[in-house]
Amino acid sequence: MQKSLLIVVSAPSGCGKGTILGQILKDEKYYYSVSATTRAPRQGEIDGVHYRFMPKEQFEQLISENAFLEYAPYCDHYYGTLKQPIEDALAQGRHVILEIEVQGAMQIRKLVPDAKFIFIAPPDLETLRQRLTARGTESEDVITKRIEQAARELQYKEQYDYCIVNNILEDAIADFRSVIRAEELKIN
Ligand code: 5GP
Repeated sequence: MQKSLLIVVSAPSGCGKGTILGQILKDEKYYYSVSATTRAPRQGEIDGVHYRFMPKEQFEQLISENAFLEYAPYCDHYYGTLKQPIEDALAQGRHVILEIEVQGAMQIRKLVPDAKFIFIAPPDLETLRQRLTARGTESEDVITKRIEQAARELQYKEQYDYCIVNNILEDAIADFRSVIRAEELKIN
């Protein structure tokens, strides 16, 4: 049987991570872990598909029940990965993709040493600002906050196994597939 991989993907917001993963996830061999969050849904986001949206009290209840593999605060909200669905998907032989920020990724590094860590980086911070502005889902204040956050996150890049720079989207998607294929073929 194909070995299942736990793949942790981090990227500052606006790096095109969602678009890259959207293509990758068309293949049924991948399972996308739907995180829990206390932030409000953005336009078009569906509960249970993009996130499990919940109030802070419910999130804290799940923390106390030890339901999370990892969780972290990010830009004034909680985000967390629920354990059970991941364990089930890995048991079915699927590759599980966690799309999480760097603090959570570092927690997984300690908990699951076999996991594979991919960082998706923007060509530069100015390009990132332009992309976030063009997306139009956040206010100017939030964009500034997220750019500052991105600069901090970029410092963690060295802790990852692979870095994919999303300059040309098709190349970034091909790079992602190459990384996974190499990991599938790896002997040890
Ligand atoms: P956004 O609000 O833009 O959807 O996500 C903000 C950040 O939270 C992104 O870097 C995203 O990868 C991260 N994130 C999403 N889900 C989780 C999670 O379950 N755990 C952690 N640690 N970060 C998450």
